Amino acid sequence: MKNVVILGSSGSIGRNALKVLSDFKERFSVFGLSVHSNVGLLEEQIPRFGPKMAVITDQESFERFHRNHDTEILFGTDGLKKLCSHPKVDLVINALVGSVGLLPSLQTLESGKTLAIANKESLVMAGKLLIDKAKEKGAEILPIDSEHSAIKQCLLSGKREEVKRLILTASGGPFLSRSREDLKEITVEQALSHPTWEMGKKITIDSATLMNKGLEVIEAHWLFGIPADRISVLIHPQSIIHSMVEFVDGSVIAQMSVPDMKLPIQYALFYPQRVISNNTSLDLAKAGKLTFLEPDDEKFPCLGIAYHALKMGGTAPAVLNAANEVAVQAFLNHGVSFTGIQKIVQETLSRHKRKLAPKFDDIIDADAWARQTAGELCLNAEMKR
Ligand code: MG
Repeated sequence: MKNVVILGSSGSIGRNALKVLSDFKERFSVFGLSVHSNVGLLEEQIPRFGPKMAVITDQESFERFHRNHDTEILFGTDGLKKLCSHPKVDLVINALVGSVGLLPSLQTLESGKTLAIANKESLVMAGKLLIDKAKEKGAEILPIDSEHSAIKQCLLSGKREEVKRLILTASGGPFLSRSREDLKEITVEQALSHPTWEMGKKITIDSATLMNKGLEVIEAHWLFGIPADRISVLIHPQSIIHSMVEFVDGSVIAQMSVPDMKLPIQYALFYPQRVISNNTSLDLAKAGKLTFLEPDDEKFPCLGIAYHALKMGGTAPAVLNAANEVAVQAFLNHGVSFTGIQKIVQETLSRHKRKLAPKFDDIIDADAWARQTAGELCLNAEMKR
């Protein structure tokens, strides 16, 4: 029996993780949950899963939460720390959104526990620190992102030195066939309707700008130790092939399934085993056509900006991530246009004085600097258009 913690249990990944865990009650026990402000859902999850602890990170929500059960209710980042490092915990699913996920990722590894990571932002900000910490503590990092789960599976086909390149697939988002001119007028509502995946707001906007794929390139670089010039991106609108690995002999191994996050969650929970699930079987005849195209760098510059940040190295990816979080939030608040997101991220990155081999505090400083800078740029008439 493994004790599992889910950080971000009210989000899309968190809810899917609870579905998977309820299918395997004899193997896993839900030890802890965390939400930011969705205490209504937490009140439903507590009696169903009986966690020992739950953390609420929003102050007001914490204060108005009804305590009528045996679950210990904790507050804020201290609460997250206590939960992730609790001696009884075996595995932490980090499904937090954005940079708030970094500290819990680090604390999980520091305590030598398995980190099943859906919070790609923490790997983007501090990939090297997390990988080094995992090595130091003998802890494992398992991807929950569908592309990285796919690559982990494909890599089983050969040795590490036989890998030629990683090929990350991308749905291309809802604006694949729009003209560049059209993109300026995209509304929040249009950007929030993703063709193949149902996800939270931040990642849905990131998918529409292709920044999500850029963040995933950086994530793949750290998880698999492959340099940026051997990671490519391929648009595949049907989201059936979740990613591929090309080996030196020219063989390309792909991982396929119907798009459903329960599969990568289950793979991480049981890794390295495979177990029977009731997920829908893939029917390729029904899918009919699988199509592929190159990403359009001019229309979706965020992907190229992310590659650039990875090549800059040091604190640059943390700045990319923070500027993007600020710009996406400003877009969701109708403060900047869809194309303004990319301008703000690029400008913030170009103003940044990168620091190489950053320590944790350098990353936090770079994150804060980028938030301030991007926040100011969001008010700039030229940038926000
Ligand atoms: Mg993904």
